[in-house]
Amino acid sequence: MDDCIFCRIAAKVIPSDIVLEDDDFVAFRDAQPKALQHVLVVPREHIASLNDLEHRPEGMGDALMRFIVKLAKELGIDESGYRALTNVGPDGGQEVQHLHFHVLGGENLGDVR
Ligand code: 5GP
Ligand code: ZN
Repeated sequence: MDDCIFCRIAAKVIPSDIVLEDDDFVAFRDAQPKALQHVLVVPREHIASLNDLEHRPEGMGDALMRFIVKLAKELGIDESGYRALTNVGPDGGQEVQHLHFHVLGGENLGDVR
């Protein structure tokens, strides 16, 4: 989608600090990090939110989780620990309407609200 910022980042039309990528997913550093390590994981394909995953091929969610684990290892936070979360819709506080997982770590993150 031409007007979607994360589609444009994934296509490298807009520059970002990419940490890891494969054919299906891209991980890049959040512009306003909320932890020492704060990376966003997005599918290259435009998917509005987690709710829309059910319309995508079986196995995509599994591939996404595996990509997040690979990213955590790449960042060196797999053993110290991290948090992977996605915000969905207005109550979830989703600001960008392209599915993304936040991967946060590099410090003690405290409790989840
Ligand atoms: P949400 O609230 O939708 O779950 O999170 C959106 C996240 O995207 C925020 O943490 C915000 O800092 C990040 N973000 C928004 N626009 C950009 C951008 O253009 N580049 C990067 N690297 N991060 C962005
Ligand atoms: Zn998009």
